[in-house]
Amino acid sequence: MTVNGNKMVNQDSNTDVIILGVGTSGEDLSLQLLDAGLDVVGIEANLVGGTCPYYGCLPSKMMVRATNLLKESERVRSMSGEASTSPDWSKIAKLVRQLTGEWSDAGGVERFEKRGGRLIHGEGKFTGPRTVSVNGKSFTARKGVVIATGTKPVIPPISGLDKVNYWTTDDIIKADSLPESLVIIGGGATGSELGQVLARYGVTVTIVEPGDRVLRLEEPEASEKVEEAFAEDVITVHKGARAKEVEPRNNLIVTRLDDGEELTSERLVIATGRKPDLAKLGLESAGLDSSAKFIEVDERMRAAEGIWAMGDVTGKAMLTHVALYQGAIIASDILGKEHPPAEFHSIPRVTFTDPEVGSVGFTETEAKEAGFDVAVVTKQIAATFRGILHGNNSGVIKLVVDRATGNLIGATAVGSRGGEILGLLTLAVHARIPIAKLRSMIYAFPTFTGGVGEAIGAYGRGITTVLDPGYSGLKELDQVVEALGN
Ligand SMILES: Cc1cc2nc3c(=O)[nH]c(=O)nc-3n(C[C@H](O)[C@H](O)[C@H](O)COP(=O)(O)OP(=O)(O)OC[C@H]3O[C@@H](n4cnc5c(N)ncnc54)[C@H](O)[C@@H]3O)c2cc1C
Repeated sequence: MTVNGNKMVNQDSNTDVIILGVGTSGEDLSLQLLDAGLDVVGIEANLVGGTCPYYGCLPSKMMVRATNLLKESERVRSMSGEASTSPDWSKIAKLVRQLTGEWSDAGGVERFEKRGGRLIHGEGKFTGPRTVSVNGKSFTARKGVVIATGTKPVIPPISGLDKVNYWTTDDIIKADSLPESLVIIGGGATGSELGQVLARYGVTVTIVEPGDRVLRLEEPEASEKVEEAFAEDVITVHKGARAKEVEPRNNLIVTRLDDGEELTSERLVIATGRKPDLAKLGLESAGLDSSAKFIEVDERMRAAEGIWAMGDVTGKAMLTHVALYQGAIIASDILGKEHPPAEFHSIPRVTFTDPEVGSVGFTETEAKEAGFDVAVVTKQIAATFRGILHGNNSGVIKLVVDRATGNLIGATAVGSRGGEILGLLTLAVHARIPIAKLRSMIYAFPTFTGGVGEAIGAYGRGITTVLDPGYSGLKELDQVVEALGN
């Protein structure tokens, strides 16, 4: 507000809504509420915009794009001629600095304040059911408080960790130069994505994964394809191994595994997941349990009367699109608008390794554990027409169909366009579309998405079996369709 050319600061300690944590989802929701005319106080401990634009999705995917270009240039040899590149980390480091505005949230603060919001930089804490204190001042919300405080990296209890200068993924994102060698603890999505990025820039990468495969939350077929790519990128994966101890030695870091093996590297990266830090939020003052792992919410994202929560702090799936989806539901609830209740049966996830791993709904194992009788089909991308034409065709499509309804309830698409094929599969799982219906539509030929058509027999059966005479998926699905009489 400006009066006689002077900026007037709204000193009212009452407001309509307090957003605690103006990160990825907090910023988005704040702007929706401000645009709807509400008075909003945003409290942000660090950067307005949060993890996704500064340390998460955006910078990491820009790095993935840079390395995929390098890899594609190597592939020129197999189909087109000669090409040579010399990887230069300083280029992508500069682009990331530009993308993040050198990790400045000035733009985000301006967007917020231009719409009339009050933004306070500081650590907020509940001091009453609808009251939050920050920097010694208290604000009380008439409509309520939205908790969107995200997560922080989990640091495992490895002996000696406090004696070495370890990195989290944040440090990779901010790195101006790269080490020669690096050990990553954790072969999940971020460890795998960033490990491959660094390996393609010439870093000797070793991943230590306690499970029996990388990306262990995904289908085993997906892990297999990614591990094949890692072998090509000369990434060493220690599976079924835990880091027991670390120690500094001659400017290097020695990581001792539980089987006694020692790994020596210039850097150590901890990529063992993220979790909320609820203890610091004063949740008891709001009647919530601060010892819980995540904040429990109902289908309208309500945690208690006048309190909502969204994003990573709810533990639904630590993904930006889920956080934004939850924010849209909260906006409707606060503004008294209709919105279907939240549904989480079709959350799409993409791991941006090369090949990409896109998945939605249940994996085969999850579906069986949940009591479904399932028909499962897997189709190699190399046995699809677009796969053959494209070359570099490592990948697989795996579909999980509920025999009782004929609906697709889970799907995985691994390949150079895995995350894009996922769009079709997500719609099918979301809308509970029966496989018979999916078979009855026309798929563009020859496309990667058409590979789904080939997997389920949507094209002429002759053409579907040309590349893959032994493919049993069609018979498997015929049984489901015939049993249902459609
Ligand atoms: C390396 C990496 C790559 C990723 N890639 C992807 C991807 O490709 N696709 C995808 O969908 N997701 C990805 N994610 C996950 C995605 O970034 C998160 O799911 C998303 O940012 C969560 O949004 P949020 O609003 O819940 O939390 P955040 O964006 O983390 O925001 C929480 C905010 O709350 C603030 N805060 C915390 N406590 C307080 C307090 N007491 N007072 C005031 N403020 C507080 C924090 O400073 C922070 O800004 C990635 C994450 C990482 C780390």
